[in-house]
Amino acid sequence: MKKWSIFRVNSVKKVILVQHLPFTGVIKYMRCRKSFAALALAAVLTVTGCGTANGTAGGVKTNTESESVPGTDSRGGENTGTAGRDGGAAAENESESSAKTAVKAREKDIHERTIFAMTTVMSLRVYHPDGEAILDKAEEEIRRIESLFSTGNPESEIAKINADGEGKLGADAVQLLDKSLSIYEMTNGAFDITIYPVMRAWGFTELYDDENLIEKENTPVDIPDAAALAEAVSLVDSSAIEFDPQTGEVRLPEGSEIDFGGIAKGYAAQRVIGLFEEMGVSSAMLDLGGNVQVLGTKPNGKDWKVGIRDPAGEHTVIGVIACRDRAVVTSGGYERYITGKDGKTYHHIIDPKTGYPAENGLVSVSIVCDDGTLADGLSTALYVLGKDGAAECWREHPDLFDAVLLTKDGKMYITEGIEDDFASDVYDAEVIRRA
Ligand code: AMP
Ligand code: MG
Repeated sequence: MKKWSIFRVNSVKKVILVQHLPFTGVIKYMRCRKSFAALALAAVLTVTGCGTANGTAGGVKTNTESESVPGTDSRGGENTGTAGRDGGAAAENESESSAKTAVKAREKDIHERTIFAMTTVMSLRVYHPDGEAILDKAEEEIRRIESLFSTGNPESEIAKINADGEGKLGADAVQLLDKSLSIYEMTNGAFDITIYPVMRAWGFTELYDDENLIEKENTPVDIPDAAALAEAVSLVDSSAIEFDPQTGEVRLPEGSEIDFGGIAKGYAAQRVIGLFEEMGVSSAMLDLGGNVQVLGTKPNGKDWKVGIRDPAGEHTVIGVIACRDRAVVTSGGYERYITGKDGKTYHHIIDPKTGYPAENGLVSVSIVCDDGTLADGLSTALYVLGKDGAAECWREHPDLFDAVLLTKDGKMYITEGIEDDFASDVYDAEVIRRA
């Protein structure tokens, strides 16, 4: 019997309940009516038979067991058919059974933690005998990064730079700003961290600073008028930031302010994976609110399977990526939004050219990349660019990352590099190829 807690109010009538299962590392989700949720919370439900799905807070679900993922059976048999191949069956059986014992021992070293940080639910899993101490360090690192880059905390490094318009950045901010500016270049300005005045005009900044974020998303608010947005947009221009990565000195143009919200979780994931490596971990999985990053393989030596959440919520997953040592980061308009008094919802990924939520035909973008920070920035940027712009950006950097794109009109595209590692039971994905 494990407790459910409310994770997200999905609409006026529906909520999502979440339950973390400590020994499996699975986060179970259940969408249900509010009235049922109240009963469920009071009664303390058991897990099975509730129509639940394992997954995570953000756009991506991690699946520990391939049988729970549609469309992966073809890869499931990868280890079969080898035993006894050369007639040395007995010896192989022996070594096979000791290998199995070793795998079991590694699997037993599982340590997991679920925390709330950077305004999202995060789950961390490592396989290591000192797992708890390692997770303590990981949590500390996430909280340290949160305290540096939280725009809502006036004491944070970023809030001070925003208030003063200039300053000397520490090592983390130097890296993050440097990468943000190169993603700005790579994406023709679709990723622009000087978006903060626009986020404020929409009221997203207040939303994120509010403890009751979920309820607030569904409370109708005034949407900004065109003139206010135009004024905010006039302040958006990463190319006008003066920055010396050697000294860390930065100067923002008058009125300009930085928001690392589109990239900071990816940076945190990348840092934590780095910490794990330093501490001798060879198998780990992080899900920082949809920013999934895996280290090595699963303890049994097989690829991790990362499922992509269905933005429409109809399917458990809309595709699965088999990977190792990779970040898989999803951006979707469905993740965060405000509700206008006009009854429409306005999501949080903004087109820096217009100041309005990006509506370029995509509903979900997942980036697969060995660098979690880059993956995070690119997922936001490619969402803004739309399918054609995203494909063009990938063709300019085909060895840097791969992508899964889902369009509003129900088409899925994947880039060539993950053709063999991606499976979907729902969509017949079209492959974007190199030029
Ligand atoms: P993500 O969930 O990674 O796609 O990031 C979305 C967040 O990034 C928003 O909540 C904003 O804080 C920020 N953001 C929104 N639009 C942009 C943009 N065009 N470029 C950079 N950051 C953005
Ligand atoms: Mg992002």
